[in-house]
Amino acid sequence: PAAIELRGISKAFGPVQANKDIDLRVPKGSIHGIIGENGAGKSTLMSILYGFYKPDAGEILVNGQPLTIADSQSAIRAGIGMVFQHFKLVQNFTVLENVILGVEDGRLLRPSLAKARGVLKQLAAEYGLNVDPDETIEELSVGHQQRVEILKALYRQADILILDEPTGVLTPAEADHLFRILRGLKAEGKTIILITHKLREIMEITDNVSVMRRGEMVASVRTAETSAEQLAELMVGRKVLLNVA
Ligand code: ADP
Ligand code: MG
Ligand code: MG
Repeated sequence: PAAIELRGISKAFGPVQANKDIDLRVPKGSIHGIIGENGAGKSTLMSILYGFYKPDAGEILVNGQPLTIADSQSAIRAGIGMVFQHFKLVQNFTVLENVILGVEDGRLLRPSLAKARGVLKQLAAEYGLNVDPDETIEELSVGHQQRVEILKALYRQADILILDEPTGVLTPAEADHLFRILRGLKAEGKTIILITHKLREIMEITDNVSVMRRGEMVASVRTAETSAEQLAELMVGRKVLLNVA
């Protein structure tokens, strides 16, 4: 089965149909891009997967099992980890404190600090995250703070990692580092959903890509079998001239 499958997901905010009858299949162990212009409905879809919004209609399956995501705890229990555009970190707490914060009825029992520190060091080394559990968040660069969010998800044993516009806040070097991390996660069998409006990122790192336009999922294709020009046309609904290097 797919790691995540959506069937007929819809969500309206008053008169705005943010998600219209969305179908999506994300194969396990793949990097799946979701691309669309600003306002296409990408973040709404992500928020539904994390239990922030209840869809008006539709079904979510995780590893073939129907899932009711009532809140973010149920998403975490299903193995879904999120990296938001705006980090949810407590600035004057350490990495370790941030990671174990709120780990209660998730997939792990609240561990001892020493044990958690060991697990974090191991995860950070395994995936090249390059963060020290005892550093304070406010001392860290934006790129490092984002890696703390990834570490948080991995600590909660996420098998599926969803990143919303993750490179928007990064320098080019930090973005390269992030993509190396994502490739490493994929190599370990994790499933990655990369939400972006940047065609270059889709072409660079994804196995498959789904295109959203005005709340609808207008296409899902293998990245190797498409081009940036085709994706751009799907995003805006007409031919466009791309200025790509
Ligand atoms: P994207 O992430 O692709 O830029 P969003 O999912 O953020 O798109 O937004 C899709 C549409 O839904 C937009 O028209 C946006 O204004 C609207 N929308 C998103 N969240 C809300 C909300 N909480 N209340 C009202 N409208 C919203
Ligand atoms: Mg937006
Ligand atoms: Mg968005």
